[in-house]
Amino acid sequence: MIPEEKFYRAQITKRIDFASDLWMFRIRSGGDFTFIPGQYATLGVEHEGNRVERPYSIASSPTDDEVEFFFKLVPYGALTPLLHKLQVGDQLSMRKVSKGKFTLDTHEGRDNHLLISTVTGVAPFVSYVRTLYRDWKEGRFDGSHRIYLLNAASRPFEFGYLDELSHFANVASAWFTYAPTVSRPWDHEDWCGEIGRADDVLRKYADQWGLDGTNTVAYLCGHPEMIEHSKAILKRRGFLENGTVKEEVYWVPSKHQVASPATKSAAGR
Ligand SMILES: Cc1cc2nc3c(=O)[nH]c(=O)nc-3n(C[C@H](O)[C@H](O)[C@H](O)COP(=O)(O)OP(=O)(O)OC[C@H]3O[C@@H](n4cnc5c(N)ncnc54)[C@H](O)[C@@H]3O)c2cc1C
Repeated sequence: MIPEEKFYRAQITKRIDFASDLWMFRIRSGGDFTFIPGQYATLGVEHEGNRVERPYSIASSPTDDEVEFFFKLVPYGALTPLLHKLQVGDQLSMRKVSKGKFTLDTHEGRDNHLLISTVTGVAPFVSYVRTLYRDWKEGRFDGSHRIYLLNAASRPFEFGYLDELSHFANVASAWFTYAPTVSRPWDHEDWCGEIGRADDVLRKYADQWGLDGTNTVAYLCGHPEMIEHSKAILKRRGFLENGTVKEEVYWVPSKHQVASPATKSAAGR
């Protein structure tokens, strides 16, 4: 049993629903909580006498007063149905220590950073970009590291951070480039961005942006299948040598999920 002093009783201060199964929380931890952009927090809810916990990437910047998360509801999951019921004012547990190594690697000697995500996998990248943007505005970042974000979803409403990231790409185009892509555009005639899965369009964008394993670190986050396919594509462009690919796999598909194409699409790639 983990002692109570390892946890904060964090309070939800904001909730936005992007879709019936996608939402964000802002929470006030209630104590000191430090992290580096790209790290995750461990959140939990009490259920039938047990604390159910899972890791969640942090979308906010360390300089923000509150901590933000972007969630996807897994209908038969142990924790997300409990989280989905929570509203502003409710509490949840948060471990006091952040974890993870999925941080921006600015010491590797490569100045380009290719970020590839599916749906909620954008969360750590939102934290990178929010932090760099603030540092750039306040003169702590000179724009010498260039960020290229390929952000995939099935439908446009699944992006969550589309407007904010598009704004950053407009005002900080010297160092931030953003390409949102949707794989199911047909019910969304007003969608004028890219079409296809992340791994379908990765080669095109890597060519367009001039990125390969000699000048770029790649970061893959979210759907396990996207990560596997993207790694194979990146390998052919000289990545994977010398640790130039970092990955954050959000879940391991069950045998049932691997076997069934229907479940794959339900997973919100
Ligand atoms: C480092 C890290 C950071 C993460 N950050 C986030 C985040 O920012 N936002 C977020 O929503 N999730 C994130 N996850 C996933 C999260 O930790 C949980 O696994 C997820 O929320 C499901 O929890 P659950 O208890 O509801 O489902 P579980 O009971 O854990 O899982 C039930 C089944 O669903 C599968 N599954 C789990 N997640 C998904 C999914 N998204 N789509 C389809 N099938 C799934 C599992 O493999 C399992 O077979 C992260 C995972 C890791 C390892």
